Amino acid sequence: MEVNKVKEATQCVHSGGIIDDRTGGVVTPIHTSTAYDYLVEGPLKYPRYFNTPNQDVVGEKIRVLEDGEFGLVFSSGLSAITTVLLALLKSGDHAIFQGDIYGGTHHAITSELSKFGIEFSFTSGLEVDDFAKHIKKETKLIYIETPSNPLLKIVDLKGIAELCKANSIISVIDNTFASPINQKPIHFGIDVVTHSGTKYLGGHSDITCGAVVTSKPLGDKIYKAAVNYGGSLDPQTSYLLERSMKTLALRVKQQNENAQKVAEFLEQHTDVPAVYYPGLPSHPSYAIAKAQMTGFGGMLSFEVKGDQDAFVKKLELIKVAISLGSVESTVSSPLKTSHSKLSAAQRAEAGIKDNLLRLSVGIEDAEDLIADLDQALKN
Ligand SMILES: *Cc1c(COP(=O)(O)O)cnc(C)c1O
Repeated sequence: MEVNKVKEATQCVHSGGIIDDRTGGVVTPIHTSTAYDYLVEGPLKYPRYFNTPNQDVVGEKIRVLEDGEFGLVFSSGLSAITTVLLALLKSGDHAIFQGDIYGGTHHAITSELSKFGIEFSFTSGLEVDDFAKHIKKETKLIYIETPSNPLLKIVDLKGIAELCKANSIISVIDNTFASPINQKPIHFGIDVVTHSGTKYLGGHSDITCGAVVTSKPLGDKIYKAAVNYGGSLDPQTSYLLERSMKTLALRVKQQNENAQKVAEFLEQHTDVPAVYYPGLPSHPSYAIAKAQMTGFGGMLSFEVKGDQDAFVKKLELIKVAISLGSVESTVSSPLKTSHSKLSAAQRAEAGIKDNLLRLSVGIEDAEDLIADLDQALKN
């Protein structure tokens, strides 16, 4: 049976894995060697060449799940993203970035790209036209992130892919929030998919890694740059990532289901002024989300009345923490974390109220999560 042909939950468990021929052990052994026999047939193996056995296994697993031709894992999400940008852009090129992307990516772009003579623009909105109006003849790349952080806004994947194809521009997406279980951007014509594997792929708040999936030709370019920039993942973490990804479909399905229930609970609560979740019919891009996502994800945000610190301190199960995508539910404040460096006016323009909280819904029982939110909203 070909692992590409089986269903997604089966791919999570089986794709990429290596059976140990000597023992028949069912789990991939951890290959810790950094030195490999150069007389063995095939390309020379070395960890920074991203081609040792445990790196291959997870590269293949994410490739299969995103349904691309080439997959590579990195030592962090940012390493994956910066390697892609520096591999595909050169001095004199121009790139267009979605305005409200992940803060770390935003910082990397604004502080590093001009050193290489690469020009960039940020969009003010998320409509296809908001990207189109920045295109000039030097534009080589458009970069999106959907659902977006922290308001879970949706970008039209097909619309962006068509815009890019019509203008010979490479399209790149950060698919961290959706995970390949909920969204496969390559199916909509997007060229390059990146991930912070620190979030859903790892899924247990205990490893840092990243990934890229794309076509063979773009993969070749990215691979060459990756070897030079050196952001490869070590074998132990590669193994932990493989172990985590075996339950990816299972976890994400539970997170989708829980987030939907929590969002519906919050939406009807009189002390919650607003809820942002693409799975609510009241979400302005519900129709697009439904067309391009097979699940609406585990991320949502909502506004509370009164002091947000007092509210989060009352939560008993849900942990107060940055980061996301793990088995445990966590809540964080954009005002105090990801968006703290923006001015009040910039936050207001982005629609991020001071009382906004972002919730990463875990795999606990939804009833317990709702009870926790309910008691914290009460007193
Ligand atoms: C966390 C995150 C990143 C950065 O990933 P690291 O693993 O922290 O380097 C990039 N994009 C998104 C959407 C993220 O949430």
